[in-house]
Amino acid sequence: MDAALAGDWMRAAAAAVAAGAGRLTELDTAIGDGDHGANLHRGFTAVVAALTESPPQTVSEVLVKAGTTLMSRVGGASGPLYGTALRAAGKALPATPTVEPAELAAALHAGLAAVRRLGGAAPGDKTMVDAYAPALDAFETAVAGGAGLGAAAQAAAGAARAGAEATVPMRARKGRASYLGERSIGHQDPGAASTGLFFAALAEVSQA
Ligand code: ADP
Ligand code: MG
Ligand code: MG
Repeated sequence: MDAALAGDWMRAAAAAVAAGAGRLTELDTAIGDGDHGANLHRGFTAVVAALTESPPQTVSEVLVKAGTTLMSRVGGASGPLYGTALRAAGKALPATPTVEPAELAAALHAGLAAVRRLGGAAPGDKTMVDAYAPALDAFETAVAGGAGLGAAAQAAAGAARAGAEATVPMRARKGRASYLGERSIGHQDPGAASTGLFFAALAEVSQA
């Protein structure tokens, strides 16, 4: 991956969030405050603008800039969480023009660790962690098996989507949805759904 491809990833994520904003809002209306689609749409629109205004030269800088922008532009829980993940991932990468799939796997690992540190959510708590953790597992397993970026990203995207679907029967233990207790059961977690879109965007731009 190079900086141009990382930028394409962020643009594809922005497009997916724009197209899926209505559904994300619907999910967040059921178990939250109905702003997840708007929050991420505003945030990723700002990310694209920031990257277009001064395109970074390394993948590391692209991810750090995207994360910093999300942190400053998204007020909800998801802004700091997505922002922290991207900043930590970017900081874990070498400042080289291109990064290898194994380096990206390590960066995604650092991103998940940062989300878990900040939000305190474990797998099963019905949050974005329930999509991110299986996606990372799938990405790491694919890379360890010799897969290239495209195949690894495809595996991660499938695992993220399945992980998001698996949040439906869970009872939320973190975030706003946790206030609903039992009533959070039966709905997909909006942050897990958007994390699915984020990994699908990586798969979309990584096809060889
Ligand atoms: P808010 O809840 O502040 O309105 P959003 O609606 O933008 O923020 O984002 C909600 C999503 O954030 C949830 O669906 C969940 O995936 C994620 N989230 C909330 N709290 C946590 C947490 N402590 N750890 C991980 N993810 C969380
Ligand atoms: Mg919300
Ligand atoms: Mg909110």
